[in-house]
Amino acid sequence: METMNLPSDQNPRPAVDLARQRCRNHGDREAVARCPQCGLFYCRECVTEHEHRMLCNDCLSRTAAVNAPAASPWRNRLGLTLCGGMGFLLLWGIFYLMGQGLLAIPSAVHEGTVWQHPWWQAP
Ligand SMILES: [Zn+2]
Ligand SMILES: [Zn+2]
Repeated sequence: METMNLPSDQNPRPAVDLARQRCRNHGDREAVARCPQCGLFYCRECVTEHEHRMLCNDCLSRTAAVNAPAASPWRNRLGLTLCGGMGFLLLWGIFYLMGQGLLAIPSAVHEGTVWQHPWWQAP
C-alpha cells in the first residue's frame, strides 16, 4: 500500500483550503486567512496584520502580551499607587477638616442639647 506523506505545513494550498474553510468565530463566513500561530481559519474581521503576518485576535493579544515591555505594568501600578495615595490623602484631609470642624462647634452639640428636639420628630 502506497503511503502519501505530505507535509501539510510545507505545502500549503491556501486558495483551495480557504474556500472550504469557515471562520472559527463566524460559522457562516468564509475564511480568508489562516493564523500561522494556531493554524485555525478566520474571516477578514477576525484577523489582524501583525509584522506582515495575519494573526487571529487571540494570538495577536498573546503576542502583544509577550512583546510588551515589562515597564508598562510597572508604570500602571505606579500610577495606581499614586492615585491610591492621593485618594488616601484626600480622605485623610477631609476627616482632618471634619475633626477640626467638630472641635470648632460649640459644646452644646457635644452635650446633646441641640439634638433633644430633632426637627424630623417634632413637635
Ligand atoms: Zn491564532
Ligand atoms: Zn470571523
